[in-house]
Amino acid sequence: MYWDEDVEKIDRNELEKRQLQDLKASVKKASLSVFYKERFRKIDFDPDSIRSLEDINKIPFTTKDDLREYWPYGFLSVQKDDLVRMHSSSGTTGRATVIFHTRGDLEAWTDMVARSMYMTGMRKSDVFQNMMTYGLFTGGLGFHYGAEKIGALIIPAGAGNSKRQIQLMRDFETTVIHIIPSYALHLSEVFEEAGVDPRRDTKLSIAFLGAEPHSEKTRIKVEEFYGLKAYNSYGLSEMNGPGVAFECPFQQGMHIWEDNFLVELVDPRTLEPVAEGEEGELVLTTLRRQGMPILRYRTKDLTCIINGTCECGRTHRRIERITGRTDDMLIIKGVNIFPVQVEKKLMGIPGVGMNFLIILEREGYNDHMIVKVEVQKEFFSGDLKQLENLRRKITEELKSDILITPKVELVEPSSLPKSEGKAVRVIDNRKD
Ligand code: AMP
Ligand code: ZN
Repeated sequence: MYWDEDVEKIDRNELEKRQLQDLKASVKKASLSVFYKERFRKIDFDPDSIRSLEDINKIPFTTKDDLREYWPYGFLSVQKDDLVRMHSSSGTTGRATVIFHTRGDLEAWTDMVARSMYMTGMRKSDVFQNMMTYGLFTGGLGFHYGAEKIGALIIPAGAGNSKRQIQLMRDFETTVIHIIPSYALHLSEVFEEAGVDPRRDTKLSIAFLGAEPHSEKTRIKVEEFYGLKAYNSYGLSEMNGPGVAFECPFQQGMHIWEDNFLVELVDPRTLEPVAEGEEGELVLTTLRRQGMPILRYRTKDLTCIINGTCECGRTHRRIERITGRTDDMLIIKGVNIFPVQVEKKLMGIPGVGMNFLIILEREGYNDHMIVKVEVQKEFFSGDLKQLENLRRKITEELKSDILITPKVELVEPSSLPKSEGKAVRVIDNRKD
């Protein structure tokens, strides 16, 4: 029932003892990187001064902007020679944040993913179809190696190509899938169109849903349509990727693997710890990572810690489903998009006016991104139809940067609503 019972059911006192030991080592290791060396010097912090877990408060938070600023190698604590893999966050083709791993880092990550999958009941005898993008995105290779460690038969299907996915599931009797929740809903329509009933025509029994926020309702829809159990999988590339927190068979929140991550929950405005059981921003510190330790990383994800122990006997605390973000990052079809990326791209295109608006719509199970763009006064002759070339150019340019194809609509100069204060850039009409 357990992948590693000693670790999964570790006594909390023992866990904290180990965390302190690992934290001390992690802070020391981090101090070898350019970024932390500079930061520690600036605040006159001595890496040897960590005596308790609370001492982590002496260290400032790390943000995505820090990772961007010290891109690409400023966070390395080892020689480049010792690295064996690079990954990045999903989304932008621009300067995405990159994470580097040593061989040992990959082994530890793989073990956490294997532990997570095993926890839900996946075994060596399973056939695992991984429907995530392979490549820089962590959901592909991360799960792949976890499943391989369990010894399951893997179908590295990758994302998309729905008809083929269904064919593979039927031909090779797939039992476990890893899939983005919005894609699982979309795929259900393809099943219906093809007259295939997954309950009758496949052997599916487990789905891992991850990479984007989704509600309990979505989980139930997926479970009912496919006739399986769906487990929430949370992770972020900065903390490896998948395998940070995962649901157990009781499906009452996700166990966050505290042997590898030190967990804090802070009020995003004051940055002070929230009271027990309150919602806050998840802040994580890697405890074991060698190549690129990250201390007090502000995930920008909002959640809360679930009180009490879990019936499964694991002692690692549980977090609630992610309820939102403290920044304006959007996740569309599993791809992370910041409105500022859209803005930067648009503002570089001649003919684009002063204002734009992103509208997210859900049609059936498909999410669409509509971008309304004001045309520059000087470009506007009174007929938007004459500007089809501009519309196409904007579509192409945006697509090359944000990786999904938006529906671009040109609108007359100064016609979009103006807001006093912070501009409203996004209207999200997606509902379950
Ligand atoms: P990336 O670095 O590209 O892997 O994106 C990580 C982000 O995806 C996280 O910070 C979350 O905002 C989001 N995410 C990943 N898994 C989940 C999940 N199970 N539920 C909600 N959001 C998720
Ligand atoms: Zn549990």
